[in-house]
Amino acid sequence: MAIHKEAYKSILEELKTHDVTLVAVSKTKPIEDILELYTWGQRDFGENYVQELVDKQKELPQDIRWHFIGHLQTNKLKSVASFVHLIHGVDSIRLLNEINKQAEKNNRIIDVLLQIHIAQEETKFGLDEKELEELFNQLNENVFKNICIRGLMGMASFTENMDTVRSEFQFLKTLFDTYSTIQNRCSNFTVLSMGMSSDYKVAIEEGSNLVRIGSLLFGKRNSN
Ligand SMILES: *Cc1c(COP(=O)(O)O)cnc(C)c1O
Repeated sequence: MAIHKEAYKSILEELKTHDVTLVAVSKTKPIEDILELYTWGQRDFGENYVQELVDKQKELPQDIRWHFIGHLQTNKLKSVASFVHLIHGVDSIRLLNEINKQAEKNNRIIDVLLQIHIAQEETKFGLDEKELEELFNQLNENVFKNICIRGLMGMASFTENMDTVRSEFQFLKTLFDTYSTIQNRCSNFTVLSMGMSSDYKVAIEEGSNLVRIGSLLFGKRNSN
């Protein structure tokens, strides 16, 4: 399966005018596809599965910035802690605690985003508004020296109703604005990760500055 080069170029143009970062979501896609996009200049890639990420990272150029966008289990963290660029899906103090530990072992700071549950579906991970507030309160008592919370991430409902999607993104943007004014040790709470192939245009209109796009670039995935 070849990369959709035209789509890549036009998405990049579109994003550039809004200062939005593109994370190319390469889960389930082969090394050759990633390399092809790499040769066109893409450096930010996103993966959902730890083992797949570890295998790919070994084989691919070392200047790729790997985003972990799936649900991270604490026992799997060890294998990505030395190189992961940004972990998007953090939704508990327990996970923050473990990331901090592994970051410390690797003598580095790991950047993370807190995942907010904005969709109607029950199955998606993430914090609600109240849990986010509680988490920030707990952060005052727990010092995570090796973590920087860089912003928020969310996934809208899986629906063709763009009004629903838009209002979910608006809600996430409101939370983002609220928390970006709160004094943060890292003082760079600046990343709002929202938007995928089906809804990235709406996400950008609603203030996203990082989109995670897979199928528009790599073609459809076989379900797995
Ligand atoms: C798979 C995935 C994407 C990309 O989805 P596409 O519809 O292929 O663009 C984005 N974000 C997350 C969290 C994903 O799991």
